[in-house]
Amino acid sequence: MLFLFGESVRSKCTDVGSHDCGVCRGRQPFTEQIESLWFCLFAIPLIRIEDRARYWRCENCLSAFDRNNLEEPAHVPLVKRVIAYLLLGYRQDQHESIASEICLKITGFEYSGREYKEAIAFLDRGDVEMADIVRTSAPAMNAIGKQAVLEAAFLTTYLCCDMQYEDRLRINLIGNSLDVGLEFVEYAIQQTRKQNYYGVRRLMHSESVGSE
Ligand SMILES: [Zn+2]
Repeated sequence: MLFLFGESVRSKCTDVGSHDCGVCRGRQPFTEQIESLWFCLFAIPLIRIEDRARYWRCENCLSAFDRNNLEEPAHVPLVKRVIAYLLLGYRQDQHESIASEICLKITGFEYSGREYKEAIAFLDRGDVEMADIVRTSAPAMNAIGKQAVLEAAFLTTYLCCDMQYEDRLRINLIGNSLDVGLEFVEYAIQQTRKQNYYGVRRLMHSESVGSE
């Protein structure tokens, strides 16, 4: 007998009532969005393997939140960590004001000096795997949030260096941990360029070269 095994992704959307949205600054209707991967036999879903996405969404602004924190969308803490991680990696972590500017322009949320210092101290411990942090945060995010993380990663990298293969690869790897394809990474990069890099000043020496 021939068995046909497979996997399929199923989505579920449940109304969870009205709550205060940290983006809209007022009460808005929210839904819970769940995307799960199922093991199928003859196209019949039998066993739920994992939740690929689980978050609350404001139906007014479509931001995705961790259900325990409706103050700021789920991608905002990750954007902050990615900015700190890259500035630290390029030894530009003294530029606290640039970190705050990137965060504000991409997410609309403030990045306080205290938060930034805490992020740097956390990342500087040496035993932190950024890929794990991104992978753990990804299921609470939707495409809007993932795009913001990738834009922040690209913009920070662009400000710090003349982009080479390994710099671009690092952004692709963040995309991989976010569970998005290379086309999505490329789209986020194009959006950052279209925004004229949000008008943020480059940190590196060779501004006159201006290759990007
Ligand atoms: Zn909202």
